[in-house]
Amino acid sequence: MNKIEHIGIAVKNLNESNALFEALLGKAHYKTEGVESEGVLTSFFKIGETKIELLEATNPNSPIAKFIEKKGEGIHHIAFDVENIENEIQRLEAEGFKVINATPKNGADNKRVAFLHPKSTNSVLIELCQERTDNK
Ligand code: ZN
Repeated sequence: MNKIEHIGIAVKNLNESNALFEALLGKAHYKTEGVESEGVLTSFFKIGETKIELLEATNPNSPIAKFIEKKGEGIHHIAFDVENIENEIQRLEAEGFKVINATPKNGADNKRVAFLHPKSTNSVLIELCQERTDNK
C-alpha cells in the first residue's frame, strides 16, 4: 500500500458539511460526485496528498444511512492507495483478512475499489483503491 488516499466521513447533510469543511480546511471542495450503486453523494477536498471524502446517503437503504443510524456522523472508512488492487486483495485474503467484494468495483473519483470487513480490521472499514486508467 502506498499512502492514505482519503478518509471517508459520513455526514447527514452534504451542503452543511461542505461549508463546515471549507471553513475548517480553508479551501473549497473540488468535486461532487454521486455513486448510484452505493446510494451516496460524495464531495472531495484535497489536503496535501490526501483527500477528505464526505458521504451523504441518497436513500434510506444506503450503507451510509445505516452507518449514521447506528453510529451517528463521523469517520466511516480509511482508503489506501494501491498499485494493483487484484494482487493486494489476494495478499490480504492470504493474510486472513475478510474482503467484502473480492471483485473490485467502480467507486467515486475515478477509482476501482474493494472493502475489507471491519470485523477483520479492528472495526475500521478499510477501502483499497486504485486509479482507473480505462477512463470509463
Ligand atoms: Zn472512499
